[in-house]
Amino acid sequence: MPTEFELIEQFFTAHTKQRRDVLLGIGDDCALLQAPTGQLLAVSTDTLIAGVHFPINTAPYDIGYKALAVNLSDLAAMGAEPAWITLALTMPQVDIAWLTAFRQGFFELIDRYGLQLIGGDTTRGPLSISVQVHGFVPENKALRRSGAQVGDRIYVSGTLGDAGLALQLLMKDAAVGATGGRPSRKTQTVAASDGISRRLHHPEPRINLGLALRGIATSAIDISDGLAADLGHILKASKVGASVLVEDLPLSSELKERLTQEQAWQLALSGGDDYELCFTVPAERESKLITALKSLDCAYTCIGRIEVEPGLRLQHRNGTAFPLSVDGYRHF
Ligand code: ADP
Ligand code: MG
Repeated sequence: MPTEFELIEQFFTAHTKQRRDVLLGIGDDCALLQAPTGQLLAVSTDTLIAGVHFPINTAPYDIGYKALAVNLSDLAAMGAEPAWITLALTMPQVDIAWLTAFRQGFFELIDRYGLQLIGGDTTRGPLSISVQVHGFVPENKALRRSGAQVGDRIYVSGTLGDAGLALQLLMKDAAVGATGGRPSRKTQTVAASDGISRRLHHPEPRINLGLALRGIATSAIDISDGLAADLGHILKASKVGASVLVEDLPLSSELKERLTQEQAWQLALSGGDDYELCFTVPAERESKLITALKSLDCAYTCIGRIEVEPGLRLQHRNGTAFPLSVDGYRHF
């Protein structure tokens, strides 16, 4: 059995590339870091616990990937450029195959964005992964939740509800599995496709979008708890309200195929885990937005606008209200 130090060396130190702003990385009591002058340090942390935040049998590659992706999504929503990562890993035992796959998933985004793992902690206990990310953002460019202004257009990136759909299908599968016996034909027909299941297990943190929105968006948030809830945070922090047209919600073709129109809208509004960005832009910056996002491989859609009257009004194009039902999306 490798010692704790051999483990860290084998699985983490050896795989992280050296950034110039890391004066001292893994191996001492602290890392020593040089933040760029004139920029703020943006810091965020998230913990994933087995059985709480992901099913116990989730593939270790997916756990590693998502542990970092959800944290980087927070930096993206702030308009921050990611740089340094710490990892606190608690495991019931040393499982080399598990660690090998976990590390591959964990380093996928580290490598893609030129980040560096600079330290962490390794302990024994129920499986839990705690990641802290550090990034940089010029002081007046941070995309806070509190900056939305009356008249701003509300946008979302990508499509909504896909991760929620994948989770529903996964739970349905698990429920059938729990009754014993072989998966029925029906189970096989509802199983999530690769595309949908990827949206749950392999979300894309919208880092380049967040950077492109500096100086353009007045507010931003990443959608982790569902659009209605997360846009609600912007409205509250900005002391404004909003109208959103359900017909304008961006839906994947797969979501539209599998659900009724009503279910699809409900899920797009309340399904979590999409990690798309919701952001607000003044009407007069619309052409700036189009130019800034032209080169990004990321769809974005205007879904509504910020208004004086507090609260979130979900509407049809013909002006009638769309009632959000908390568990409406479960009925399929
Ligand atoms: P200490 O006892 O001084 O806290 P540790 O023995 O916990 O030090 O860790 C030794 C070094 O390895 C430190 O630099 C720490 O940041 C790093 N480290 C420990 N666990 C991890 C991990 N899972 N990933 C990355 N670095 C780690
Ligand atoms: Mg320690």
